Amino acid sequence: MPHPQPAPDRELAQHTPMMQQYLRIKAEHTEHLLLYRMGDFYELFYADAEKAARLLDLTLTRRGQSAGEPIIMAGVPAQALDNYLAKLVRLGESVAICEQIGDPATSKGPVERRVERVVTPGTRVHDGLLDERSDCALLAVAPAASRRQQELGLAWLVLSSGALRVAQCRADELGAWLARIQPAEVLWPAGEALPALLQDLPLTQRAPWQFDTDAGLQQLRRALGVHDLDAFGAEGLPRAHAAAAALLSYAQQTQGRELAHLAELQVERFEDCVLLDANARRNLELFSTLRGESSPTLLSLLDSCATAAGSRLLRAWMAAPPRDQAVARARHAAVAALQQQGFDALREALRGIADLERIAARTALQQVRPRELSALRDTLQRLPQLAACVQAQDPMLEELRAALGPGQAGLDLLQRALAESPALNLRDGGVFGDGFDAELDELRAIGRDCSSFLLEMEARERERTGIANLRVLYNKVHGFAIEVTRGQADKVPEDYRRRQTLKGSERYITPELKAFEDKALSAQERSLARERVLWAELLQALQPAVGPWQRAARALARLDLLAALAERARTWDWVRPELSPLPGIEIRGGRHPVVQAQVDRFVPNDCVLLPGSRTHIITGPNMGGKSTYMRQTALIALLACMGSFVPATSARIGPLDAIHTRIGASDDVAGGRSTFMVEMSEAASILRSAGPDSLVLMDEIGRGTSTFDGLALALAIAAHLHERCRSYTLFATHYFELTDFPAHHPQALNLHVSAAEHEAGIVFLHEVQPGPASRSYGVQVAQLAGMPAAVLRDARLRLQALQQAQAERLAQLDLFGAAAQDPAAAEAPAEADPAAQELLRELATLDCDALSPREALEQLYRLSLRARETDL
Ligand code: ADP
Repeated sequence: MPHPQPAPDRELAQHTPMMQQYLRIKAEHTEHLLLYRMGDFYELFYADAEKAARLLDLTLTRRGQSAGEPIIMAGVPAQALDNYLAKLVRLGESVAICEQIGDPATSKGPVERRVERVVTPGTRVHDGLLDERSDCALLAVAPAASRRQQELGLAWLVLSSGALRVAQCRADELGAWLARIQPAEVLWPAGEALPALLQDLPLTQRAPWQFDTDAGLQQLRRALGVHDLDAFGAEGLPRAHAAAAALLSYAQQTQGRELAHLAELQVERFEDCVLLDANARRNLELFSTLRGESSPTLLSLLDSCATAAGSRLLRAWMAAPPRDQAVARARHAAVAALQQQGFDALREALRGIADLERIAARTALQQVRPRELSALRDTLQRLPQLAACVQAQDPMLEELRAALGPGQAGLDLLQRALAESPALNLRDGGVFGDGFDAELDELRAIGRDCSSFLLEMEARERERTGIANLRVLYNKVHGFAIEVTRGQADKVPEDYRRRQTLKGSERYITPELKAFEDKALSAQERSLARERVLWAELLQALQPAVGPWQRAARALARLDLLAALAERARTWDWVRPELSPLPGIEIRGGRHPVVQAQVDRFVPNDCVLLPGSRTHIITGPNMGGKSTYMRQTALIALLACMGSFVPATSARIGPLDAIHTRIGASDDVAGGRSTFMVEMSEAASILRSAGPDSLVLMDEIGRGTSTFDGLALALAIAAHLHERCRSYTLFATHYFELTDFPAHHPQALNLHVSAAEHEAGIVFLHEVQPGPASRSYGVQVAQLAGMPAAVLRDARLRLQALQQAQAERLAQLDLFGAAAQDPAAAEAPAEADPAAQELLRELATLDCDALSPREALEQLYRLSLRARETDL
């Protein structure tokens, strides 16, 4: 039977003092599980206890009574807190951790307690709660302010690094943003209608007044320590400020303090990145396979980073490839420079360094542990040696090397303060080294002197009493004592007080020994207390170093990632791509990096998509390699844009704004949509947003319905992509009728994946060749699959008849003229090729009289090159 939480106000007075304290604190954390520190345990009560018992498999107990009811509770040992927290947060729970802050020895009623921090899915900072190699973002979404101002505000924060970002976006862009940010928790104003896209995400509703534009602006200024946000380009974004208000106040509340490590703010714009929507991420198997496994994927293939921070950065680069080609070009240059100077020493030096980024953030949030700070110290010591591994003269590498120097801030203090290998936790003591603090040294000396004092006193007391076997000893439970055997007990002097009687002996204490005992025991306590004070001072003194550490951490992550990309390129024989301002994608000898790693012999293929040959209709047998070919084109483009070398013999990638994929939908049963519905809604969204700089992969569109409407839709979609969107399109299809498409659209062409026919059946050659495929592959694949010979013979005859009949019908039908008969389409003026128009514009504006002969020749070469690439 569920036990409701007792209503605090009405019944509070009837509860025991301790339960009154609990209920008061719980009333402020109704939406969290409250872990309440009691000695060596964190206890949960009532409904919380029942929920936690269920989730964590704890034993539920009933103890004592409060307000006439037994208290239902469940507890977890304090030492194992992180394990339980990790489990709860993984299950989507938020947990408030209430600590004892008063001294149990001196408090009259229940010892004073306070919620020190709240752990939620999006605000994790502790090591045990975080995945080492991926970031965990908290996102606040502010809904559109009005019908006229339709932009949503986004603000997101990775608390464990201090990375803070804001953006404003249209409602139809939200899905792509969510795919890019991958939030672990989303804040949304309570009472506002929830967009469907947010419904399946871990959501925390906040009061609507938390999303306040002015408050957001103030909070951002305060967090960043600036008077205005101009330097960050973040003024004039009211909805983003509103989201930031909710984000920052929530994050601060969970940490119980200001966020001292937010030094930078980035404003992101939708058009900054090559768009990779959720479908493209999934279909291209960037971060997880279609089955949901983490390998083999592009990420698992690329990630040879030596540090966790490098891996996290790799994810970020993959998720948001910049559209600004200069950014990727600079990365290519750095990778090339590392290849030239050698990167093995650098990678070796990076191995085993501490996670500077996260330790810096935890230091700022005062949640760092002694062992983490000593690891940080050891890493800071190694920075000069690491910097020396980067010698190449490359602007990006030089900048990164320069960022490492100031990263040694605070090192001297850490070296002086910390013991060589300090305890894991502060409560265990032994954090500070000898010689750092005189008071601590003195207190520790008392503890160390203990044994020599005991020996010295023993000798003295034997002499004084004449009892030869008298012993002075220390026992953990009973403290210090002088032990005398029963037979000698009558010889003890007057000042001996009996402390304990044992079987064959008596134990005594003297005023001198008692005084020593007090001193020794309190010395241990006092030394722990002193370490606590010193720790707080140390963290305070280290605050100014947090910024330089963060900058050094970012530089280390970049160096690591660039070195990993250099290593991958060497291992897999990848080349530096050319990112050019001229439109088109030209790949020679391209390979699918993940498939190549799995087959014995991968057959490389070219792919040349230019405005004048922008649609490729790809036919060929199942298993022939169509999907692989299409995906490798997208992966090579993506790799080039994110700054990596690429699996090809050469690659030139022109401006690219999006990669769209429509590949093999499966039924979205949970969402109540059939395969065909999923297929069509994905295709519709591509048709709405793809443009002349977009790469579109269409695999087997129209398969989910009957032959005729499937074919009709496939044709109409291909035509729309070709004529309206003018995108670079790879269109793989089993509708052979589509191979007539290029005959009617001169800027389209046919490709097929080759296969050789043998007597025994068909052998896939995986070569992509010009022209349409042979039509009888279906029957041959059936042969390969062991279909009986009689069935195959019959199928061949029927196929011939069908082909003949269909050819006659199509000739009468004029399938490709259909769109021209559409009055609306007929009225629409034919769109001129924008690239050609641009070229003409350039020619018209060329001031020939002002050019030197050499300049004229250069212009002529450049324009002629472009004209050849363009469809004129
Ligand atoms: P399709 O889309 O035509 O059905 P796939 O692209 O799925 O075919 O390819 C089927 C399999 O063929 C792949 O899993 C891979 O093992 C192999 N394959 C595809 N392309 C190549 C290639 N270029 N070289 C070698 N093997 C390939």
